[in-house]
Amino acid sequence: MIDEVTAEPATLRGFLLACPKDRRPLEAAGTSLRCCGCGAIFPVVGGVPVLINDERSAFAIADYSEGAGYEGPSYGREGDRSGGLRRLYHRAARRLGDAGSSIRHPDADDAIAYVAALRPRPRVLVIGSGGLRLGGPEDRVLNTDVAFGPAVDAVADAHDLPFPDGSFDLVIAVAVLEHVADPWRCAQEFRRVLDRGGFVYAVTPFLQPVHMGAYDFTRFTPIGHRRLFRQFDEIAAGIAMGVGSVAAWTFGSALQAMSGRRRWRMAARVMGLLSTPMLRLLDRPLRHGADAAGGCWFFGSLREGAPVSDRELVRDYRDRFGLGPERLPPP
Ligand SMILES: [Zn+2]
Repeated sequence: MIDEVTAEPATLRGFLLACPKDRRPLEAAGTSLRCCGCGAIFPVVGGVPVLINDERSAFAIADYSEGAGYEGPSYGREGDRSGGLRRLYHRAARRLGDAGSSIRHPDADDAIAYVAALRPRPRVLVIGSGGLRLGGPEDRVLNTDVAFGPAVDAVADAHDLPFPDGSFDLVIAVAVLEHVADPWRCAQEFRRVLDRGGFVYAVTPFLQPVHMGAYDFTRFTPIGHRRLFRQFDEIAAGIAMGVGSVAAWTFGSALQAMSGRRRWRMAARVMGLLSTPMLRLLDRPLRHGADAAGGCWFFGSLREGAPVSDRELVRDYRDRFGLGPERLPPP
């Protein structure tokens, strides 16, 4: 919900908003928000502002202005918009596919707790929150996504975040950076909206097959993931999903690859998914296979000065990358 209309500038749950094009303040303009600089208009749909840079984003503002209850562009989630049995199937499939890995690693809530121990009531920005609601009532957490959802405070694209510089203490991006066209530019944006010494927590797939169709751009090796956050000092990092998860995805993909017929692919998908929870149990016993991991996680703090050099990354490679700790070190 947009905070009460004051003279200006517009805030959202206590956070100052900025134009995603030129970072100038926004002001209320009827039922929309308007940039004080370039004059761009951003609609507020069902209390949720749509703060997309229409000229640069893969998403168009016009796609969000349909009536109440509209969930935004489906971006590969067609299943959510279908009815009856198909919807049920998609839900069940997602549930099975989300079966937990047997590898334990620090999660987003652990990252919030770490930052909260150093900075009371940290300002947290969640990128691609979906239906997730992170943090406790004491934490100031702002949830953003490119689609509307029950917990989404604002529609925003990580390439052009609608916040002034230095607005947050922690940025969280779980299973997001594979879905953006330019993850390196997004990492720069994280850096920009973070306050001095701010933190980032990210989980990104490595050997996971394409999901969400056209909205799946990039994968990261462990060193590639570290390099993505070269403006940050590493506090802790590791693999997020292990070789068992990769085996489950590969098995499912192999079954589906046997025939191009739709019915077979559906059946193959179900068979693959049914085997997923069992195979994911292997993540833990096979945890030394970081080179064939399903994903990587990274937790770090903003560096002063130059980014980590590529030479440094390569030099530290053997020592740095592996399973990673189950818990974050004390702050
Ligand atoms: Zn503007």
